[in-house]
Order: sequence, then structure tokens, then C-alpha cells
Amino acid sequence: MLKSLLLGMSRTPAMKKAVVAFPLTRRVVNRFVAGETLDDCLRVTRALVAQGLLVSIDYLGEDTTTATQADRVTDTYADLLDRLAAEGLTDSVEVSIKLSALGSLLKGGYEVALDNARVICAQAERVDTSVTVDMEDHTTTDATLRTVRTLREQYPWVGAVLQSMLYRTSTDCGNHADAGSRIRLCKGAYAEPTDVAHKAKSAVDRNYRRCASILLQGEGRPMFATHDDAMIDHVLTEASRLDRPIESYELQMLFGIRSDEQLRLAGLGHPMRVYVPFGTDWYAYFMRRLAERPANVMFLLRALFERPRKKQVQSGF
Ligand SMILES: Cc1cc2nc3c(=O)[nH]c(=O)nc-3n(C[C@H](O)[C@H](O)[C@H](O)COP(=O)(O)OP(=O)(O)OC[C@H]3O[C@@H](n4cnc5c(N)ncnc54)[C@H](O)[C@@H]3O)c2cc1C
Repeated sequence: MLKSLLLGMSRTPAMKKAVVAFPLTRRVVNRFVAGETLDDCLRVTRALVAQGLLVSIDYLGEDTTTATQADRVTDTYADLLDRLAAEGLTDSVEVSIKLSALGSLLKGGYEVALDNARVICAQAERVDTSVTVDMEDHTTTDATLRTVRTLREQYPWVGAVLQSMLYRTSTDCGNHADAGSRIRLCKGAYAEPTDVAHKAKSAVDRNYRRCASILLQGEGRPMFATHDDAMIDHVLTEASRLDRPIESYELQMLFGIRSDEQLRLAGLGHPMRVYVPFGTDWYAYFMRRLAERPANVMFLLRALFERPRKKQVQSGF
């Protein structure tokens, strides 16, 4: 109930205006977002890499309504990739992109987003890193997978995300388990109707396990994006049963969530990638993080009603 309300709010412009304008919200946003600027993001990224973690950087934005805005997002990724190369970080850091940020919702948007994604992939190839295409709500799944297939003709290392909440995902996993494919398996963060998606956590989890096994039996490099111990245990048990070398798959988590566990798993030798978002357009991303865990709403409410303490106000916002 609260989850649906928060996911609904994530798409309500009036609510966005109110939440974004409220200065104390930003103290809580800082827990999940690396800052507003490229410099903020690189500072956080350097610190994570220094601790032995891998990173995927997301420039926040999914409300692109003009071609100029889509170009600006593309240029920001190009700058980001240049900066990563200049700092020698491309061994450990890749980027994640959202097609809606690159213009897929504009008129003729499929081609616009594809062209922008090509620009980013070309730059990623030049600096020797990779790109993973995020998955948005189920109405975009077919177009996103088509875009990834097209990009892979030229850039075979481009990755995609699949969501275990969707009924279709075990079939999609089977179709994307070939050598060279990079699939990031997550549960799914969007409000979806029951004709396409499991609602019960038990069903989403069951499908996650099933999809994880399909990907591990394949020849690609699966990336298991979850903070759920039960899912991680399944992945590690299956990987060991199938004699999968530890470096042939990745574990992934979001910036600010279970940071100690990220370090513990990396310390055991698992490639552990942290998804690091940055930018000013944090509203929808932030609301999805609240929706995932009702306790985060209490965290927000406490922050709103507490007197701000100097130490908690970080730079960047
Ligand atoms: C690297 C990465 C990339 C992702 N990309 C996408 C994408 O492209 N498309 C998409 O739809 N979704 C994406 N997601 C989000 C994902 O779909 C889930 O919504 C999110 O990861 C929570 O699911 P979970 O597997 O952690 O399991 P859950 O069952 O939701 O959570 C398990 C446990 O993890 C912890 N936890 C989970 N979420 C939070 C939170 N917000 N705050 C605090 N603790 C939390 C809690 O301890 C919770 O009990 C991505 C997630 C990751 C890690």
C-alpha cells in the first residue's frame, strides 16, 4: 500500500516540486545519491575503488522532454568517460544509462535514444570500459532489449538489465545467456500491473532464483544486483555447484545500501560493483528507494523533524 503510494508519487510532478523544494529532504537523498556534480561523483567513486569495489555510474534523469536535454545527458556521459580515463579508473568503473534520459520518450524517440547510446558506447570503447542499459517499466522492455541487441552488433560488451518481477524474464534470461552477454538481474523497482508482473515478494524471489540459475548455466557474464541475503546465497551456491569461477560473474548493490556487506563480500574476493547515481534529477530514483523499504520513510520523517546537525549536511547539495 505504502509502496504503491510512493511509486505513484515518483511520477507526480506536483509532489516532485514539493519534495525537491524542501531543503531537509536533501540530507536523506545524500544517503543514496553521490552528489549533484561530476566532481562529487568522482570523489565518491575514487573512495569506493580505493576500498576494492567496482562501480557503475548513473547520471540521473528520466524526464527528458527535449532533444537538447537528451544531448546534454549524452555530453555529460562523454565528459564523465573522459574524466574516468584521465584518472585511470576505467578498469574498475563502467557507466549505466537510461534510454528515457537519452530521448526515448520524444517523438521518434527510439532512434534518438539509440543514436545517443551509440555516442556513449563509442566513447566507452575508446576509453576501454563498458555500458549497461538500465531497464525501466514493462512498457519499455521490448524496445530496450531491441536497442541493446542493435548496440551489441557494434559493441558486443553492452549489458542489459532484466527484472525478476516480470513473468517474461525467465524466457528473456534464456535468450540472453550466450557467450559475451552481460545481464544484470534485479527484482524490479517499478509499479507494474498483475497481468505482466508477480506482486508477492515470494514469487518475485522464486523467479529471481530461477533466472539466476538460467544465467549461471549460460555462457555470459551475469551480474546479480540485489541486497537480499537469500538471493546472494542462492547465487553463490549455484555458482559453486556449476563450477563457475568467482570472477566470471558479479554481485552488485546500490550506493548507500548495505555498504558494510558490499565490503565484506569484496573482501572475500567477489567482484562487487556499486551502482553510483549522481546529478540534480534525483527525485524519481529517490522515491523508488523509499518505496523499496518503508523504514526509509521513517528515516526521512526523522530527518525532516530533527534539527539539522552541522556534520550531517554534506557538500554537493
Ligand atoms: C546495481 C543495481 C542496478 C539496478 N538497476 C535496476 C534497473 O535497471 N531497473 C529496475 O527496475 N531496478 C533496478 N534496480 C533495483 C532493483 O530492482 C530493486 O528494486 C532493489 O535492488 C531492491 O531489491 P533487492 O533485490 O535488494 O531485494 P528486496 O527484497 O527489496 O530487499 C532485500 C533487503 O535489501 C535491503 N534493501 C533493499 N532496498 C533497500 C533500500 N532502498 N534501502 C535500504 N535497504 C534496502 C533491505 O535490507 C531488504 O530487506 C537495481 C538494483 C541494483 C542493486
